[in-house]
Amino acid sequence: MKKRFSFIMTILFLLILVTPNQPVKAATPSWPLLQNGSSGTNVYSLQYLLLNKGYSVSVDGMFGSGTESAVKSFQSSNALTADGIVGANTWSKLVVTISNGSNNNAVKAAQYQLMNKYGYSVSVDGIFGSGTESAVRSFQSKNGIASDGIVGPTTWQYLIGGTGGSTGGSFWTSRQSSWIHPLKGGPTLDPTTGGREFGVARSSGRYHAGVDFTAEAGRQVLAMTSGQVINIYEFYEGTKAVEVKNDDGTVARYCEISPWVSVGGRVSKGTVVGTVMRSNTGSQMLHLEVYMGTVSGALTQTANSSNYYYVSAANYQRRADLVNPMGAKDLSIIR
Ligand SMILES: [Zn+2]
Repeated sequence: MKKRFSFIMTILFLLILVTPNQPVKAATPSWPLLQNGSSGTNVYSLQYLLLNKGYSVSVDGMFGSGTESAVKSFQSSNALTADGIVGANTWSKLVVTISNGSNNNAVKAAQYQLMNKYGYSVSVDGIFGSGTESAVRSFQSKNGIASDGIVGPTTWQYLIGGTGGSTGGSFWTSRQSSWIHPLKGGPTLDPTTGGREFGVARSSGRYHAGVDFTAEAGRQVLAMTSGQVINIYEFYEGTKAVEVKNDDGTVARYCEISPWVSVGGRVSKGTVVGTVMRSNTGSQMLHLEVYMGTVSGALTQTANSSNYYYVSAANYQRRADLVNPMGAKDLSIIR
């Protein structure tokens, strides 16, 4: 018994000796697993990367049968298991290194992540210029990876595997400690799934311009920061929207609610703006939109113009200074 014990200890000791030292660094995010039924920002980038490899798919953020058959065909051409499921092996073969001067759909895939997941102000135009390069350098340095402005395999993994929100875009990082979550008690469903997230396709080619924080009708909606109520109107299926011009110049549109405030009134951080209202179709949620406040005009813009958000990339039907609101999910929740 004793002999066997010391034999095992010797083996363990030898194993420790031959195991190479692992470098100490923050964990690289895992590649996400996407398959038929997935939706959101990563699906957009997947579709742009498939286009870049010559596969014809529509870029709508929804992983349906068209995307699935393109994935399967890409997998068989690349000696991968053709199961239609996009994991680490498939991602690794789909991404290509891009840098200043690149002009292709892979650039759009990276720009889409930078803009929609991390809140950088870049255009999704497929042209890797100085604006994209500086966004990439900033993203790299925030994530502790070499800030060379080149999107290679590691940067791709951080872009696509990262969670966004407070970890990336400068809009939300600066507000994370000062603003509060707009839904008292927090949402009942995960706002990063199920079509509740920013940028997912809606009917007739429109993309979701806000984030949905689900809650039962009557739940209180709170001002995230101080400001003045500038507009209240009918918004969707019998529900209303309240626009607040925040004191920092930004605009918050609290939607699908029953207002408790009136136009011209002041709100402080935590003031009850209204309560979640059941729409005529039965949905119950706070739909939140945020704007930089750098341009004027109606927040909803149905005509394609210079005052229109990301014309070349996506049809959000919103004003040009729309902000990715996903970072609001990480604000402190008032119980
Ligand atoms: Zn919504």
